[in-house]
Amino acid sequence: MKYVSTRGGIESLEFQDAVMMGLADDGGLIVPEDIPDVSDRLADWADLDYPDLAFEIIRLFAADIPGDDLRDLIARSYVDVFDSGTDVAPISSVGDLFVMELWHGPTMSFKDVALQLLGNVFEYILAQRSGKLNILAATSGDTGSAAICGVRGRRGINIFVMHPSGRVSPIQERQMTSVLDDNVHNIAIDGSFDDCQRIMKELACDLEFKQTCSLGVVNSVNWARVLAQMVYYFQGAFKLQRLTGSDTIRVCVPTGNFGNILAGWYAMQMGAPISRLVLATNENDILSRFFNSGVYSLGDVHQTLAPAMDIQVASNFERYLYHRVAGDPDRLRSLMEQFAQTGRLEIECESTGTVDSSIEAGSANTDDILEAIRCCYESQGYLIDPHTACGYSVVGALTPVGAAAAGGAEASEPTLCIATAHPAKFPRAIEQAIGQDLARHPAIDALADLPTRCEAIANDPKAVENFIIKTIS
Ligand SMILES: *Cc1c(COP(=O)(O)O)cnc(C)c1O
Repeated sequence: MKYVSTRGGIESLEFQDAVMMGLADDGGLIVPEDIPDVSDRLADWADLDYPDLAFEIIRLFAADIPGDDLRDLIARSYVDVFDSGTDVAPISSVGDLFVMELWHGPTMSFKDVALQLLGNVFEYILAQRSGKLNILAATSGDTGSAAICGVRGRRGINIFVMHPSGRVSPIQERQMTSVLDDNVHNIAIDGSFDDCQRIMKELACDLEFKQTCSLGVVNSVNWARVLAQMVYYFQGAFKLQRLTGSDTIRVCVPTGNFGNILAGWYAMQMGAPISRLVLATNENDILSRFFNSGVYSLGDVHQTLAPAMDIQVASNFERYLYHRVAGDPDRLRSLMEQFAQTGRLEIECESTGTVDSSIEAGSANTDDILEAIRCCYESQGYLIDPHTACGYSVVGALTPVGAAAAGGAEASEPTLCIATAHPAKFPRAIEQAIGQDLARHPAIDALADLPTRCEAIANDPKAVENFIIKTIS
């Protein structure tokens, strides 16, 4: 499998080079040259456990890692790392819905699934090349702690994590800043997550700086993130086929940067038995507006109860758009340039009146989030975090309409809701919804009085660059 840039400006790459390059050197995103069709292998894959299934899927995209090495990397990422054993993505039945709990990893969000693997893959590649890596990350809350956990204490790797000052939950902040390993550097940026992501992209596009500092990225612009996440879409679909007898399923994904759901989209293109994706945003609804109208237009960033989704410019959207314009880098570039200049781009809808008949989209405001947490807890005794609640709310709002429009058979298709974080990471939202701080987790309680370290830096790429240079020299 070779990789190219959405903007057409780089030579094709093997997997390991794609991982190291992170953001494509021409400013685009790295995408696989083609998407393999695995429909004829589904029957063989349906009963595999998580590590074995991960091996089958990832090896299709990482042909330059020998099989034994890849098996070892996967085992180190997924065996005895999650508190659910090798079942990285357990499913709970919650009323009419199924919830895939992706928060059993060490930092309790779905980000661990990809970042555990990416930490191991980076270390593996650096060992082959006796190289060094300085990772620059932007986080809206959960990527930071998961990435730090994936690389803390590893030789040859430094990590710099920018979070928007005061805009991540206090627990998320503590999960990052209480890690005191010498190779971990937290930065509080005086701005929003979009500012952090813009600084990350700007520095990663400064090829001289990227080269001299061996700059790497762990945000979901890194292809390895998306790849690792495809695995649980396949496994979730197989499990629901067994549990319900249905041929296909629908998957609901709370979305900010369009990374997680993009992995589901790729899985669907490869032939995973998923008929539709439900995209759920919070009030930062640029993506749900796009899928319902074809217009992608920038709004203001709202701070919500689901801060990991307080994003306007979704970096992975470019990958989707690239495939939508049939892999035409010229067309893609002109759309992205138009968006950069005017804050707006538009593509044609399908005859159904929406952008993609396999993606339904909706958004949830603060009341919807609180109502979803309350309703799920009171009717099912099951606690969901505010991000998962966006999905729960959007599914609830879509289903009656969809059921009427789609008729009996499709309406009964089982729905898998992705739970992206453990509710104990967001105690204020839980307390606001149900009146009590019921969501607890021992690892989170243990953070309370730990010492922390963090550098406050202005919303300015140059200031971040200087801090990195000073720290590594
Ligand atoms: C990162 C995150 C999201 C959004 O995921 P994207 O891949 O950015 O769409 C949703 N929920 C939680 C808890 C997250 O940490």
